[in-house]
Amino acid sequence: DLLCERLENKTHCIAKRMAVLTSGGDSSGMNPAIRSFARQAMLKGAKVFAVREGYNGLVNDSIVPLNWGSVAGIISRGGTIIGTARSTEFRTREGRKKAVFNLVKNRIDNLLVIGGDGSLTGANLLRTEWCSLLKELVDDGKLSLDVMEHFPMLSIAGIVGSIDNDMCGTDLTVGADTATRRILEAIDSILSTAVSHQRSFVIEVMGRNCGWLALASGVATGADYILIPESPPEDGWEQTMADNLEKGRLSGRRCSLVIVSEGAIDRQGKPITSAYVRQFLEDKGHDARITILGHVQRGGTPTFLDRYIATRMGIDAANYFYDSTAEQLNQPVLIGMSGMDTIRSPLMECVQKTQSIASLIKERRFNEVVDVRGGMFKEFYEIFIACSNLHRRKVESKGMGVLILHSGGPSPGMNPCVRAFTRLGIDHGYTMYGCFNGFGGLALGEIEQLQWMTVNGWSVMGGAELGTNRSIPNDSNIEDIIATLERYKINAILMFGGFNGYLGIAKLYEYREKYQQLKRISIIGAPGTIANNVPGTNISIGSDTSLNNTLDALDKIKQSAVASRRLFVVEVMGAHCGYLAAMSSLTSGAERSYIMEKGITLNTLTKDLDMFVERFKREHRIGLIIKSELASNTYSTHFIYSLFKEEGKHLFDVRESILGHLQQGGSPSAIDRIFSTRLMNHYYQFLEKDLKEHGHLQMNGCIGFIDGGIHYTSMPDMIEEMSDKFRRPRSQWWMDLVETSQNISVFPLDDPSS
Ligand code: ATP
Repeated sequence: DLLCERLENKTHCIAKRMAVLTSGGDSSGMNPAIRSFARQAMLKGAKVFAVREGYNGLVNDSIVPLNWGSVAGIISRGGTIIGTARSTEFRTREGRKKAVFNLVKNRIDNLLVIGGDGSLTGANLLRTEWCSLLKELVDDGKLSLDVMEHFPMLSIAGIVGSIDNDMCGTDLTVGADTATRRILEAIDSILSTAVSHQRSFVIEVMGRNCGWLALASGVATGADYILIPESPPEDGWEQTMADNLEKGRLSGRRCSLVIVSEGAIDRQGKPITSAYVRQFLEDKGHDARITILGHVQRGGTPTFLDRYIATRMGIDAANYFYDSTAEQLNQPVLIGMSGMDTIRSPLMECVQKTQSIASLIKERRFNEVVDVRGGMFKEFYEIFIACSNLHRRKVESKGMGVLILHSGGPSPGMNPCVRAFTRLGIDHGYTMYGCFNGFGGLALGEIEQLQWMTVNGWSVMGGAELGTNRSIPNDSNIEDIIATLERYKINAILMFGGFNGYLGIAKLYEYREKYQQLKRISIIGAPGTIANNVPGTNISIGSDTSLNNTLDALDKIKQSAVASRRLFVVEVMGAHCGYLAAMSSLTSGAERSYIMEKGITLNTLTKDLDMFVERFKREHRIGLIIKSELASNTYSTHFIYSLFKEEGKHLFDVRESILGHLQQGGSPSAIDRIFSTRLMNHYYQFLEKDLKEHGHLQMNGCIGFIDGGIHYTSMPDMIEEMSDKFRRPRSQWWMDLVETSQNISVFPLDDPSS
């Protein structure tokens, strides 16, 4: 009872004291997690500390208070500002006793650990030994008896910082997306030279126990062969690899790419090195070159997604320490991601499941490994096998035509999507068609059959090889559209595009009443737009690339203002939807975002002006407002710029910047590449199910990413969800984040950390 009472006291304490540490290998995104955790905790009333250099800081009492300003300007920085280390002393009970002493000395009993499975195991050990170590310290006379009463337990939250994406309990670990980006930058550059010289490249990427980086980059670059620890190749793989590379050459590929995980092994558990792979290929007459990417994969500015997940996880960790019951605080949690939302799982269950994979690999129980890694890993592995040139199986034709077209603005990810659409479709026995220039092209019969090699190399390409436009079916072209569909014997249409495309498929569906022929055709929409303004999905392919482009530009803009008091008003795309503005604000640390959903009033502008005046009076050097292009019909970007410039003169300077089409261009990001393939994989799963259940294709609606999975929404539900007037979904999951973003970015007038 006494313990319960003490725990209750701990739960209800407002001025909690909590610390954050980063441990093990660093990863890009640790800083945004530190920033959001510290600020959210301060806003809730906590006193926040940083433990420097991992567990060494606990052992040596290198524990320093953080304030609002000490985590300013770090959201775009790789690595960790508080340092990380591997501590031998902490592995000993004596070391952990010192850690307990130092925590109690600083009156800290909530600890956020950002690190890998080793670091999280260490945190749990400290938690379980807490009471006994306290007792020893009391017995040693180092602490007085009442500490037992005041610090009944240590609460632990864990965030996985690891480039390997190797932890159960989260879709993604902090740092994995940035590492994949670094790998893709390197491979995309290598591919252009490899194509010129018809060379074979062997690329070694990190991942001692986990092949995620090799797998994700293999899917994203359309590699010929990957070697990962989870699935060692069958004996004799060397010859199979060489034969397949040769087959690819003969069918028209000008370069070959083999990606080797640093932990790759054969079925006997013997390491497979990249040098061995290259030598083998050279012996077989290939002009083979090797590139070992090494530590470039760890570093650099965090991507949008790493900043996003780290920020959300950091906030959730602070909320966990504040909003949980005593019982919950006594159970350490792992804060992970499921889709775009955070989830909490029992920490040690996740750690143990993860560690069991290393044991399975050691015991060579390879059949179980990929399963334990989880659904997404397994799915990507299957997609890689199906889409790579190597493992093409002979499939009986279904005699059914499936057609893809784009509609709306071009979006990065369209080409990788068509590649996956084509190859996975062929793998299922469909006849594949691509339609050029959207519904307009469909009416004109601009169709081409897509063969396996038509889409060779498309996985890395930006833009839209099939073209896209904004026309939709109407009374003057519907009969031509139907004629084309009949001529090519199309059984299913997949529209991969934006809001206009969704209007287009809804219109086509409506025409079924008049034209019975349309009733035997499945009509499906899939999200391919940077704006993320379409129904039936939380995210659309293209928005990740666009946000990365925006953050690259914002980082440069912010740097240009170093040492000058300057406020930037930056306009981003998004049409009627504020997703790009809201997300770029959250991940760039902008103080304000203006979006159409919330509108802009003179009152808002006046308040914000006052806020910036106050801030710049306090020596603040830079301010950032992100405005969505259609946030207001009256208060344009230029108006806001002029207003702030006039009112802020003598105190700060104002600059206006319209980012424009750089947001739509460039090579698709890792996430847009691999998620478009995943979306296509599910498209065929839905078609197969439809065929099995009804004997013909009759699905109509859209598919999209919801709650970490891929879901189908029927056409009536899809139409219901769309607001024609505002050209966006009626309800948008991210709206609450606008306020959250501002809360953790604006220096409060009464500094909560003081
Ligand atoms: P990475 O994935 O980068 O290797 P990690 O967190 O798994 O990250 P480790 O070297 O395993 O890295 O652990 C980091 C630190 O955590 C160790 O130096 C040690 O201080 C502590 N630690 C790890 N495992 C334990 C353990 N079983 N008991 C106590 N402390 C541990």
